[in-house]
Amino acid sequence: MKEWSKETILAHAGTCWDEKTGAVSMPVYQTATFSHPGLGKSTGYDYSRSGNPNRTALEEIMAVMDNGARALAFSSGMAAIDCFMKLFRPGDTLIVTEDPYGGTFRLLEKVYTPMGIKIIYVDTSSNNEVEKAFNPDVRAIFVETPTNPLLRIADIPGIARMAKKRGILTIVDNTFLPYWQHPLELGADIVIYSATKFLSGHNDVLAGIIVAADNTLVEKLYFYQNSTGAVLGPWDSWLIMRGLKTLPLRLERQEKNALEIAHWLTGHSKVTKVFYPGLPDHPGHALLKKQSGGFGAVISFEVDDPGIVPVILSRVKGFLFAESLGGVESLITFPAVQTHSDVDPEIRLRLGINDRLLRLSVGVEAVNDLTDDLAQAIDNA
Ligand SMILES: *Cc1c(COP(=O)(O)O)cnc(C)c1O
Repeated sequence: MKEWSKETILAHAGTCWDEKTGAVSMPVYQTATFSHPGLGKSTGYDYSRSGNPNRTALEEIMAVMDNGARALAFSSGMAAIDCFMKLFRPGDTLIVTEDPYGGTFRLLEKVYTPMGIKIIYVDTSSNNEVEKAFNPDVRAIFVETPTNPLLRIADIPGIARMAKKRGILTIVDNTFLPYWQHPLELGADIVIYSATKFLSGHNDVLAGIIVAADNTLVEKLYFYQNSTGAVLGPWDSWLIMRGLKTLPLRLERQEKNALEIAHWLTGHSKVTKVFYPGLPDHPGHALLKKQSGGFGAVISFEVDDPGIVPVILSRVKGFLFAESLGGVESLITFPAVQTHSDVDPEIRLRLGINDRLLRLSVGVEAVNDLTDDLAQAIDNA
């Protein structure tokens, strides 16, 4: 049989697990433990920290989606990042994107740096800067692309080549571009997701995913996952899998809306800058077009006066004032105060995360309702 396309595989995620009844939708195996057919025998499941059918189904789909050896599902994106960090030892150095997700920055700075792991923060949208940062202690490069909230784009194949040459790992946080961008196919060793965002798509569950390119690596990661226990529960696995079924549809609509809103913002008199890699004048546009099937649905923009920010945030209705992204409901965030408050103020300003910067996560609503909403909020501010 000809292989199914990813859209078809996703739409059919988890079907026909229950041979007894033929249930089309996968049952939720809400169980902590599994009985054994006899001494030394196992159904393949023993205890839900080690494995649960709902988690397995989700992990299998994610491994297929990203062409990995195997995937692991965690209780949050941070738990997934925390898991791969256990591959490193005191004295090891990592090169990391200089403007990572705020929680990633906090984990690296406040948990792993005190344990003796060294982090070199680099502008990973410049291969030159990455190349300059290598030293003999570097064990991995951890790239977030596009970055949050300024949407800078890293050259995944270029960076993976530099890493391979030195025998070190390339790890990519692909939270912003699932389904569109496949880091393992571009040469990365590990891809991680906050599945809380686009993969779930409904702002209703917290989850994280790791997909690894090779079995030896994923066995190590599974050992840490099973030993520490931040696994995704059966219900939450089911919810993420339910989200995956409509992922391509949602993304298509969200991207279309985002592009329209980005153009609309560009023409607004109180908007001084728009950051969206789908706009042809975005510095990462051509690169992203080469390595990704889409540009995503996150936009950042600057207004001309910090004084109007609180007014905009209180007036919007179509955009909910909340942190997070990727869901069907559009959200608006004030990064300097919300998602990036743990980043040193000086670094924040150098990166461009100032008090005039707002971030949008664009959902699936009718786009005119969204632009009308922004218009009434910004025009009257
Ligand atoms: C949200 C997010 C995380 C953390 O994921 P949680 O599910 O909130 O723990 C990591 N990386 C990026 C890019 C994110 O947006």
